[in-house]
Amino acid sequence: MKIIAGKSVYKDGKELTERGILVEDGTISKIDFLTTLKEQFPFAEVINCDGFIYPAFFDSHIHLGELSLLLSSIDGGCIKSLDELKNIAKAKREEPVYIYNLDFNNLSAPDWVVLFKIPLKIFIQSRDVHSIFVSKAFLEEKGIQLWEVPGGELKRYNGQFTGIFKDNAIDLVRNIKEREISKADFENTENYLLQRGITAVTNFDFQIYPLVSHLYRDSELMIRIVQGLKKEFLPDIIKEGIRTGDGNDKLRFGPIKCFMDGSLGSQTARMKESAPFRGILTMEREELREIISIANSNGLQVAVHAIGDEAVKIVLEEIKCSGIPHLRNRVEHLQFFDKEDLPLLKEAPFVPSMQPAHILSDYKILKKILRDRLFSYAWNTVHNCLKTLAFGSDAPVEDASPIRGIYAATSRIPDGVEEPFQDEECISREEALGAYTYGSSFANFIEKELGKIEEGYQADLVVLKKSLFNDMININEVNLTMSAGRIIWMK
Ligand SMILES: [Zn+2]
Repeated sequence: MKIIAGKSVYKDGKELTERGILVEDGTISKIDFLTTLKEQFPFAEVINCDGFIYPAFFDSHIHLGELSLLLSSIDGGCIKSLDELKNIAKAKREEPVYIYNLDFNNLSAPDWVVLFKIPLKIFIQSRDVHSIFVSKAFLEEKGIQLWEVPGGELKRYNGQFTGIFKDNAIDLVRNIKEREISKADFENTENYLLQRGITAVTNFDFQIYPLVSHLYRDSELMIRIVQGLKKEFLPDIIKEGIRTGDGNDKLRFGPIKCFMDGSLGSQTARMKESAPFRGILTMEREELREIISIANSNGLQVAVHAIGDEAVKIVLEEIKCSGIPHLRNRVEHLQFFDKEDLPLLKEAPFVPSMQPAHILSDYKILKKILRDRLFSYAWNTVHNCLKTLAFGSDAPVEDASPIRGIYAATSRIPDGVEEPFQDEECISREEALGAYTYGSSFANFIEKELGKIEEGYQADLVVLKKSLFNDMININEVNLTMSAGRIIWMK
């Protein structure tokens, strides 16, 4: 039994001072004045935290495998030119060279052709994970043949292959992409998340599942994972009788994940108008319909990736007509939608799983496709359609920091810009915090266990140096992270 106290305790949208949280067996059993709790439970250990206490963050969309690989490879986030890239690849003594997180738009098409022919084994993954570059030498060593894949693209320039595989074409280089992730790599990733106050995630990488289930069996899993399921395995999943929510408090099965379109960064998001790009659909409407109805009728939630306004429209229509509402089918990203689809947004029963930090870095490309009637990153409008917002980061596409996400959702001031972008779509800090805690729990059917500081909830807490409601929202720090009443990370 312990009592946790700090400068304030966040409950029911308020920061209450002089309070304490009584924790028994990892669960919150009482919240009251600290003095009262100390009197009533004189033998309880008192943990005085230096800071403001909130429910721990829940990232509703993350890629644990990709994040682990990035954290153990070269981060291409700062690489701006072909020369820089060449130098980094040449300086690396061991081959192959793996680079993650590069903005592919930093190199021109002729640059890629040059890089393709360099006699080194190079693998580069784009920041949005929808494009991959593999050098000629690496392709040849692995004996990889090229052919056109539906819903994918092999990017060419003047008839020459650039080495870039987009969307479904990435399947061709899957055996290069899927490197093994070690236990140490994963522990590094857990530490990265705990540092940011995150104790639970929905994970949309599948290759890491054997490792995390092993860690779970050995009681070595620190974070809570809701594991997304690959749509290709749907028949097997049904045969095995797996349902969304099956599992335990540390590791459980989540939604069937599928993709309706590409991404904004790779210009493959499916838009209604081709200004400046139309993008692609990575799945037929009929296939989506079948997945939703088969999965839902077998107790499985569906999470559909949809970014462009046309993709979003198709997904909402299909969820509306074939989805079972209580299965809380999710739309991942929902970055754009057309004004005329607003009624659909209200009527379709779905949970919007959105990543606010994208607005901070996508601004340049965002400006290019802006037009009348197009809603972009419209958190306020979506919230006003009576949807429970679930927030995440899509890490490693963005840094996983929920503080950065809350800053993005409430300020909408992109990096390097001074003015907010469409500030009518800002939401309040309370709403943004709610989306990163309760909202994500709701999207994962855990809202009665996680995401609030309330009696009966798991004592997953984050202690911040400053109040989330102070003026400088983006300047804050995590002091301590707790899961089930146990301190698992401390500054
Ligand atoms: Zn993602």
